[in-house]
Amino acid sequence: MIEFIDVSKTFILGKREVHAVKNVSLSINKGEIFGIIGFSGAGKSTLLRLVNMLERPTSGTVFIQDIDVSKLSSKDLRTRRRNIGMIFQNFNLFNSRTVAGNIAYPLKLAGVPKKEINERVTELLNFVGLADKAKDFPDQLSGGQKQRVGIARALATSPDILICDEATSALDPETTADILKLLKKVNRDFGITILLITHEMHVIQSICDKVAIMENGEVIEAGSVFDTFTAPQHPTTQRFIQSVQ
Ligand code: ATP
Ligand code: MG
Repeated sequence: MIEFIDVSKTFILGKREVHAVKNVSLSINKGEIFGIIGFSGAGKSTLLRLVNMLERPTSGTVFIQDIDVSKLSSKDLRTRRRNIGMIFQNFNLFNSRTVAGNIAYPLKLAGVPKKEINERVTELLNFVGLADKAKDFPDQLSGGQKQRVGIARALATSPDILICDEATSALDPETTADILKLLKKVNRDFGITILLITHEMHVIQSICDKVAIMENGEVIEAGSVFDTFTAPQHPTTQRFIQSVQ
């Protein structure tokens, strides 16, 4: 359902070219939890920004549900983006809005009637286990609770794809495990395809079906988590695996 065909993204910084993503070909199936791992600067975030169309490829094609996303008009782009939820390391919540207000925000933008918004927000608050926090503000919440709000907000418009950019990196191990469990539930209950960036192999190991390892903009290895763990092909992959043993 998500397909990269020989995709590259180059940034020009003055006279310097930064090859953030280089000749990546990758297929991500519907309903998969797909992990992308790599050291800082490997190109992970850029790769996912190509999926939610915040970046356009310099060359190559990105297909989402058989649509070449670089060919979309800006109106279609806005509609298609509603199909992709995103959560972040630093949560990116609106501090001046309540928990309920944060979750309602994308629905308001989409012009959903108020009554429907309220019903959906209640449903989502229950789903992420924060029904009693609806009227609280983000700064009254723990990191794990903030990320639950982030997840609820990302799910508001019922996307098919959820992108998680280092979504657990700011959390302690126990809270990380809780959030990963919730993401697994999102995947199982709604069949949402999850793309998850991390630099921690244990995150990949605990919830992902497949993994791609990135280095210097390239995918140096990709496959099932089981195969990758049992028979890593690339020295960088071996280094990541050693980090969890
Ligand atoms: P991290 O783990 O630190 O988040 P990453 O794997 O997500 O790293 P990217 O953010 O995708 O890496 O960056 C890949 C490369 O592209 C880096 O060298 C970065 O400096 C560069 N880069 C990313 N975005 C831009 C931009 N908008 N303009 C110029 N260079 C960029
Ligand atoms: Mg990044």
